[in-house]
Amino acid sequence: KKLPLDPSTEPGVRQVRGACFSRVQPTPLKNPKFAAVSGPALALLGLDADEVLKDPLGPEYLSGSKVMSGSEPAAHCYCGHQFGQFAGQLGDGAACYLGEVKNPTGRWEIQVKGAGLTPYSRQADGRKVLRSSIREFLCSEAVFALGVPTTRAGSVVTSDSRVMRDINYDGHPRMERCSVVLRIAPSFIRFGSFEIFKRADEFTGRQGPSYGHDEIRTQMLDYVIETFYPEIHQNHSDRIERNTAFFREVTLRTARLVAQWQCVGFCHGVLNTDNMSILGLTLDYGPFGFMDRFDPDFICNASDTSGRYSYQAQPAICRWNLLRLAEALVPDLPPDRAEQVLDEYLPIYNGFYLSNMRKKLGLLRMEEPEDEMLITELMQTMHNTGADFTNTFRSLSQISCPTQQEGEDESQAIKQAAELLLQQCASLEELKAANRPTMDPRELAMLLSMAQSNPALFQMISDRKTVARQLERLSRLKELMDTTAEQLRAKQTEDWSCWIRKYRQRLARECESGIDVTDLQKERVHVMNNNNPYVVLRNYIAQNAIEAAENGDFSEVGLLLALL
Ligand code: AMP
Ligand code: MG
Ligand code: MG
Repeated sequence: KKLPLDPSTEPGVRQVRGACFSRVQPTPLKNPKFAAVSGPALALLGLDADEVLKDPLGPEYLSGSKVMSGSEPAAHCYCGHQFGQFAGQLGDGAACYLGEVKNPTGRWEIQVKGAGLTPYSRQADGRKVLRSSIREFLCSEAVFALGVPTTRAGSVVTSDSRVMRDINYDGHPRMERCSVVLRIAPSFIRFGSFEIFKRADEFTGRQGPSYGHDEIRTQMLDYVIETFYPEIHQNHSDRIERNTAFFREVTLRTARLVAQWQCVGFCHGVLNTDNMSILGLTLDYGPFGFMDRFDPDFICNASDTSGRYSYQAQPAICRWNLLRLAEALVPDLPPDRAEQVLDEYLPIYNGFYLSNMRKKLGLLRMEEPEDEMLITELMQTMHNTGADFTNTFRSLSQISCPTQQEGEDESQAIKQAAELLLQQCASLEELKAANRPTMDPRELAMLLSMAQSNPALFQMISDRKTVARQLERLSRLKELMDTTAEQLRAKQTEDWSCWIRKYRQRLARECESGIDVTDLQKERVHVMNNNNPYVVLRNYIAQNAIEAAENGDFSEVGLLLALL
């Protein structure tokens, strides 16, 4: 049934049982106009960006304000585990499918995000604003350019429609312009798409709206495998074997995806099961962040107080999410088969991570078991010295294989390299700021005294990892308080020199393979520069472009897109 999608009238928000999609109509925008388009993304649909920009109806169609004849817009019903809890029905609360395009580049589903109310909008308004749309648009295309699997973004349309948002830079609500991102992907089906069939959760008591509709779960699984994993479909006549092979492939893609995120310092921010793509794509760009100074505990989502989705938590969280997917696929996927597959997750992840990291360090000729330690020590050094993640990796290609003649100049070469890397390190004040505990000091003091007086109660009420992290920051901060800027620089120099010495020794062994050192060095720089981005979408850069766009100047967004 088509819904009256006007927020001022009955919105039609409801539980949707026994169905994966609801027909909806996008709500038109007032005076839609382009804020940005991505030529390469639109080309996937067979569209030419210049023509689209010239077409007076371009913004209408690409925002869903007008719908092409034959299109049957729909919103997808999915559930999800949010921050560790089963949340029940979520669904496309702001997004809407327009249909799909099949052409020589593939088969592409098209979505408009921010297109108005759907049965899944719950308390929210189904709209998106320029801030969130530009962030999703730029990051989708930037992540794609980095060679990381992702959904794509074809355009951002802004408008004269406005909605109230309570997040302002100064904490006051304000009216913001509604905007719509055109999203493109082979499929937007998520882990959570299969959770609509979940029976009552033992903790939350919630169940999926389609619990008991087993035939639909099987249909959806068949659809996903036949459409997106055709080789798996063709190679298995036995259903259990087929489903296990499918789950193994999803596991592999997910492990590879996270490894790629880790290697560019990308933090997703909201790794709930409803944001996990069944195709192993980066999906749903919200409070994501590329790290500046390296911190394994980096959290980009302000509402993630426990650090559940911190940078270093991502690999384990994705495994946790895969386990939730496996549960949702029972009995099509027997639990013991899923368990066997998940036992492979960590080694697979480590394999991808290591091989990516070797490229980032330019270790090309051989693999040594000690490489893992070299990488770990690099990360520790970056953390200790407050080094910029992106720039540090980019600088490494300037450290070259030691040459034979150099011999006595070793300390000079190390000194030079250290000076280069020190440029990426934090000053004393920056390091102090970075290590300031994020928890309220009174709360922290209370927890500390409780930890001593009543350990049992302490364990019950507190997330011990959070407290441990706060304590670690506190002790670092204490150390820094007793340090002068000169002492810090000296320590940073020492830390880097120590790592660079090991790195150069490792590089020397690369050269022993009898190869021409000049050739090897050329190849290293080439591979390293292809794996260590020179630019990433840093938050402050995105923010500058957003502020310009909010003032009607979209040129920054276009420039950034081209650069990224
Ligand atoms: P997210 O945290 O972005 O993955 O979103 C979680 C859920 O909230 C999804 O079901 C979204 O569709 C829904 N949602 C997010 N933003 C809006 C919005 N502006 N209006 C309605 N639903 C929304
Ligand atoms: Mg989402
Ligand atoms: Mg979102």
